[in-house]
Amino acid sequence: MADCLFCRIVAGDVPAQRVAETARTIAFRDINPQAPTHVLVVPKDHHPDLAALAVAGDGLLDEVAALAHEVAVTEGVSETGYRVVFNTGPQAGQTVFHTHAHLLGGRPLAWPPG
Ligand code: 5GP
Ligand code: ZN
Repeated sequence: MADCLFCRIVAGDVPAQRVAETARTIAFRDINPQAPTHVLVVPKDHHPDLAALAVAGDGLLDEVAALAHEVAVTEGVSETGYRVVFNTGPQAGQTVFHTHAHLLGGRPLAWPPG
């Protein structure tokens, strides 16, 4: 989608610090990190939110989760612990409507989040 920020990052039209990639997913650093490790993992195809990604099927949601874990390993936070969050909808604070998993780690994370 031409007017979607994360589609433009996937296409390389908007620069981002990529940390990992598979055929159908990419991971890049959040521009406004909320933890020492804050990486966004997205499907390359446009799905507006988690519900749409879940029904896309074909293992795509699994691939997003698997890449989030892989990045947690390479970032060195898989042993200390990390959080994977899909903000979904306005009350959850979703601002970019190309679904993305936030991978957060590298510091103690409060529960529940705000
Ligand atoms: P949401 O609020 O939708 O759950 O998360 C959107 C995230 O995208 C935010 O954490 C925000 O900092 C991040 N973000 C917004 N614009 C950009 C950008 O241009 N590049 C990168 N790398 N991250 C962005
Ligand atoms: Zn998109």
